[in-house]
Amino acid sequence: MVVTRFAPSPTGYLHIGGLRTALFSYLWARKNNGKFVLRIEDTDKKRNSEEATEAILKAFEWLGLEADGEITYQSKRDAIYAKYLQQLLDEGKAYKCYMSREELDALREQQMANKERTKYDGKYRDFDGTPPEGVEPVIRIKAPLTGEIVVHDGVKGDVVFQAEDILDDFVIARADGSPTYNFVVAIDDALMGINEVIRGDDHLSNTPKQIVVYEALGFNVPTFYHVPMIHNQQGKKLSKRDGATDVMAYKEMGYLPEALLNFLVRLGWSHGDQEIFSMDEMKGLFNPKDINKSASIYNTEKLDWLNAHYIKNSSNERLTELLTEFGVVLSSHDKREIILDTLKERAKTLKELAELINEIIITPTAYDEKAVKKAFKGNAIEVLETFANRLEAAQELHLPNDYHHVMEKVVTEMEIGFGKIGNPLRVALLGKMSGPGLDVVMSILGRDETLARVAKAILSNIEE
Ligand code: GLU
Repeated sequence: MVVTRFAPSPTGYLHIGGLRTALFSYLWARKNNGKFVLRIEDTDKKRNSEEATEAILKAFEWLGLEADGEITYQSKRDAIYAKYLQQLLDEGKAYKCYMSREELDALREQQMANKERTKYDGKYRDFDGTPPEGVEPVIRIKAPLTGEIVVHDGVKGDVVFQAEDILDDFVIARADGSPTYNFVVAIDDALMGINEVIRGDDHLSNTPKQIVVYEALGFNVPTFYHVPMIHNQQGKKLSKRDGATDVMAYKEMGYLPEALLNFLVRLGWSHGDQEIFSMDEMKGLFNPKDINKSASIYNTEKLDWLNAHYIKNSSNERLTELLTEFGVVLSSHDKREIILDTLKERAKTLKELAELINEIIITPTAYDEKAVKKAFKGNAIEVLETFANRLEAAQELHLPNDYHHVMEKVVTEMEIGFGKIGNPLRVALLGKMSGPGLDVVMSILGRDETLARVAKAILSNIEE
């Protein structure tokens, strides 16, 4: 059975890069009817916070990514790590190192002066003398001194590390007894039965060390997939400005969870040239072997395009509910269907949709001065009055086109250009020159509200 995991360190919010590897891991488990587990790597007490863990769980909930089974917290597993430390000491695969800070610094300086790689020199590796007094030892693992460590990576192929170049007997427990990162990750992955590890390739350099731990403890080494980073349009590491922000900020900006997931699945993975993937399709098609070898590029337009697609295809019931978070209450609005049917085609985000709706349904309380100057020239009031009369007399008034016909009628009758009616009408209805098509606006407002706004504009005597 395929068991994957997501193992965030709760040092802050969940960001896009983390979420993408979580999604990949989740999809791969689901595709194989396997398990996707969540492990919170909260051993760094200074940098971790409960709020950050909460934030990660909240983001998972919003996105509908369900983890299987209990969540594992590394902070609660000290006894387990202590047991394996002891096992390695007992088996002579790890040892206590009494080198003091000063000694270690001196060694490093000397290596640097000799232009050598800085590394621990193995002084206590086979030590059987009396340990020096006053030094709390660290525990180091006996790493291979020569030979190769090969990471069989599902994305990058075999990545070969020369033990001599990259390893030394690295510390697996600090002087205060606390185990180190690469040690606990390997133990947890093994004990949690994780056999497919999908993570960012910024972790690739940790992998040989973790393999040393797996092997020392006699655990099976999982299959690794190291996913290339997400870059911005300039080919640089993603910064906050271009999207490396809290996943929940996307919710606040008005993105739908399925749009964000669809966007992320395509960042570094593809299936032919298909762009739109439902969750079921993702679960059916995702395979980490198809992850691209090079970095992927974050592209906001693409996200907006996907979001527009999912907004357009959302039911009006769902949009009504989602829009309440953006200050728009349509549940008992008698024009709800036409509002959403016409406007959901035009918005890239829920926020934008809310703005489009408010722009229309909230009666303007003031008229933009510049717009008034431009629109209310000449016989604008007369045009509006004529329009109001024709609108009152019109029979069928439902669709945008019905309203368009009335405008056309006035244009023909008064022998004026379209702007002569469009501009003052727009200011009367919306208070400004911008906004969606007037026929759409009027079909949303309906006859009575349109007439009321036109009358108000005329009464306000807003001509020059
Ligand atoms: N806790 C690590 C991180 O948040 C991930 C470790 C892993 O995936 O192996 O970057």
